[in-house]
Amino acid sequence: MQIWAFLTPFLVYSCSCSRADEPIRAFVVPHSHMDVGWVYTIQESMHAYAANVYSSVTEELSRDKHRRFIAVEQEFFRLWWDTAAKGSHKKQVRQLVKEGRLEFLIGGQVMHDEAVTDLDDQILQLTEGHGFLYETFGVRPRFSWHVDPFGASATTPVLFALAGFHAHLISRVDYDLKDRLQKDKRLQFVWRGSPSLGEQQQEIFTHIMDQFSYCSPSHLAFSNSSGFYWNGVALFPDPPQDGIYPNMSLPVTKETVHAYAQTMAENIKQRGAWFRSNHVLWPWGCDKQFYNASVQFKNMDPLLDYINQNTKEFGVTVEYATLSEYFQAVHQSELSWDVRGSEDFLPYSTESFQAWTGFYASRNALKGLVRRASSQLRAAETLFARYRVSFPDGPVAKDWALAKLRALRWAVSEVQHHDGITGTESPKVAEMYAQHLRQAAMGVEEVVAALFLLPHHGLGLPQHLVSDLHREGSNEAMEQHVIVYNPLAWNITTIVNVTVTFPMATVFDDDGQPVAAQIQRSAHSNVTYDLFVVVTLGGLQHRKYLIRLSKTACRAKTSCSATYTAEGVHFERRYPGSGQKIGRRLLPVLNDCYKLMFDQDTNLLHSITDRAEKRTVRMRQEFWEYRANGDVKAGPISDNYIFTAIEPAVRAHRAVQMEIVPGKVVTEIRQYFYREEGDADYAFSITTRVPQSFAGGPPCHTLEQRYSLGPLQLNTEVVLRTTTDLQTDRTIFTDANGYQMMKREHRDIPDNTVARNFYPMVRAAYIQDDRSRLVLLSERAHGVSSQASGQLEVMLHRRLWNNLPWNRGYNLTLNDSSVIQPALWITMSSLSASSRLHQRGAVELQNRPLVMPIDQPRREKELRAAVPVRPVVLPPNLHLLSFSIPGWNYSSQHDRHLLHLDSGRGLRPEPDYDRVLVRIMHLFEEGEDPEFSKPVSIDLKEVLSGVGEVGAVEERSLTGTWDVNTLDRWKWNTHAGMKDEGRHGCLTQAFNVTISPKEIRTFFIHFRTTQL
Ligand SMILES: [Zn+2]
Repeated sequence: MQIWAFLTPFLVYSCSCSRADEPIRAFVVPHSHMDVGWVYTIQESMHAYAANVYSSVTEELSRDKHRRFIAVEQEFFRLWWDTAAKGSHKKQVRQLVKEGRLEFLIGGQVMHDEAVTDLDDQILQLTEGHGFLYETFGVRPRFSWHVDPFGASATTPVLFALAGFHAHLISRVDYDLKDRLQKDKRLQFVWRGSPSLGEQQQEIFTHIMDQFSYCSPSHLAFSNSSGFYWNGVALFPDPPQDGIYPNMSLPVTKETVHAYAQTMAENIKQRGAWFRSNHVLWPWGCDKQFYNASVQFKNMDPLLDYINQNTKEFGVTVEYATLSEYFQAVHQSELSWDVRGSEDFLPYSTESFQAWTGFYASRNALKGLVRRASSQLRAAETLFARYRVSFPDGPVAKDWALAKLRALRWAVSEVQHHDGITGTESPKVAEMYAQHLRQAAMGVEEVVAALFLLPHHGLGLPQHLVSDLHREGSNEAMEQHVIVYNPLAWNITTIVNVTVTFPMATVFDDDGQPVAAQIQRSAHSNVTYDLFVVVTLGGLQHRKYLIRLSKTACRAKTSCSATYTAEGVHFERRYPGSGQKIGRRLLPVLNDCYKLMFDQDTNLLHSITDRAEKRTVRMRQEFWEYRANGDVKAGPISDNYIFTAIEPAVRAHRAVQMEIVPGKVVTEIRQYFYREEGDADYAFSITTRVPQSFAGGPPCHTLEQRYSLGPLQLNTEVVLRTTTDLQTDRTIFTDANGYQMMKREHRDIPDNTVARNFYPMVRAAYIQDDRSRLVLLSERAHGVSSQASGQLEVMLHRRLWNNLPWNRGYNLTLNDSSVIQPALWITMSSLSASSRLHQRGAVELQNRPLVMPIDQPRREKELRAAVPVRPVVLPPNLHLLSFSIPGWNYSSQHDRHLLHLDSGRGLRPEPDYDRVLVRIMHLFEEGEDPEFSKPVSIDLKEVLSGVGEVGAVEERSLTGTWDVNTLDRWKWNTHAGMKDEGRHGCLTQAFNVTISPKEIRTFFIHFRTTQL
């Protein structure tokens, strides 16, 4: 740090010297940062300012051909387009887009968070926005504008490259790092975010915004207002009737123009010294700006003219620009750039005690809801696509089903916003996201129910069907039918859990054969029972099961004896912190993979043995909590965004009770943690499920843990701390958005070390020594850290309050009193065996079988007689990432599509229901596994024959909008050169495709249906 401080004057001096004669060319990029949520609901934002942004910008741009604007979040634009834009606006927008003066950046529904979002959802939200833009305007965004996400992931540039982007722009990176990069003129580089993908396929020029970030300078010496924002500050809930907003800056007049010009030119020159080319990106805008574009441009126009008329004096030229115009200029400079590998910019701090690592765990319930909705959506998409191919004239109305799916696509997309899934929004906005998700999920449930009952005919309208399904108190109350669907393109044997209210149940498959099952009292309820059913399903296959419920126990050797009734054994309350001896009275729980030892003197886990490796690792799991400060006068605080550990974590419980429920399908260990010794109610619990080993049973390597926490005490942040004797030197590995694993070595930072060593965990985290790896897989995002060797702690839940006026004013204090029940899957194995388990395990946990109870079908015989659905099975290292009918109506021939748009005749009258969007992902990194890391060749026709006959295949860009062979992304000169010349058109006529490590290949598949 100090060295840089000494070097700075020299660097700045040498740079300004080399370009002394040349004026700096500043690209003034007008924009408005419009959070899809955060403090205000979407409706409130639309009303207060967002609709006005697009109306007034459209009108103002049409008045002067020099003016420009960039549009970023598609959700607001689409709402405006569909509900507020007049016919004249639409005409103007089409013209402006054609001229390139109104430019769409990113093109996703939102500017997604990069830390806690899942790959599936990032792709979804990008696809959702891109589909609309391409359909409506024939345009495909080629640049990103990721100015606000709280830290930057290495997955994002990879996905953007696969979507066809030329360049990527980010802003929030560690304050001290930004300082260094700025002084060293290294804010721009070529990023290769994946260690496995081909260079040409993934590399992307990346620009980190300088210290001014995405807002124009707001402190002007001569003005008491708000900088270059002549329209002032947006007013909520209503825009002012007289058009007078607070903080409107002094107008640009003869008297003020020189002062404005001087301030702007000085700022441009200051920034010019941080970049290698002679171009400065000068974002003009900030949050909620340009709702009155007229006053904005009316002041900026003469200011720019004045500067350009006095270029000699000011040393700069200024022009309105879109981001593409700026990047074009940088690209043409033909400089050679540094290459950055797969290192990311997480975690993110704005000061030493401002570590933005709290949001990894903020609003855990919302984070869980998002992922469940996303997984339900994916399953429903695959079902609908299969159905459409098999029954093009089937009774489920396709437009009805598509509308329901679209609603959930929209809801899942929206919440990926960087103040959405992050949990950094106000309570009313969190409720808005949840409401949208729940409502849309209910709609999709109706679709799934309708699709499952096929192939029936004449079942009536889906709505009718659904109300029928939910009918209660029918005669068949003692029998329940469930359909279990495997949404993965792999064959699986797994355990599903059905909650019932009877103490006994027997299960039969669709051939009438009894199925292995187990029933026991639920851990957290006195009135329900958990029924565990072992299901075996082919890829994308569903089966119907009959559950026969009974109030009486089973007599041995009857058909019901396939269900095992499990009874719990209770263990007295113990006090683990009180210095008792441990390891004297151990209780084993075994399956073929593991031996778990529980200590009867503590009621805690004592060790785990990997039986294949004959390796025993000491292991203890407990809840600890960080006690947060909420008083800004007393020191740094924790809030929605920020985590500050003002003191080390303390054990959050004094007593533990245990119950073991030995079973033949699963053995369950229930641990209840009490805050105080005599508490009647437990504060936290862990339910560990150990699958039992038997012929035809599920694989034994996955231990499932479910936790229950909350409501927490105020100002506590609770972690699950797993302590082992693995020698790990505090290094952990965490996933980046479920796409790849990142190695995180402990960072020795003098201040705030605990908080700055937290990382996001979206799907996976592990620790390892030279022999064994302990992996945690997750179904929702958490914060994760290793504060001591062999330790892995997961921040599960936070409840905070603070008195920072800004936080209180916006209601961003996070007083979250919810009860949460997240789950983790745990595996421990040798390093060589681990990758296969956790790569697939993470996908399996994210895509659990869909279990849907249905009423006794009226036409039982028909259902039985139905032709079984043929499985779709991919090789074990390939994952069917998407299988859906997007319902776009554009032609995949670009020229033809543009012709359609130009003719004004509009598009096809209805969505294209015959185009299936298929994405296949290779799960492994190069060199990760001797076998599974190899490129895999598949014949798409063959692989998808279970769905139907493939007629044609087109390979597309990630979001579907490009023919992949026409992408033609910009090439950038690098200091490292390029080893890999890239791959083009690996698809042959024979439908053969080779998929290499970490590749995601996207296709349009056209099946030959009976309609064709
Ligand atoms: Zn934002």
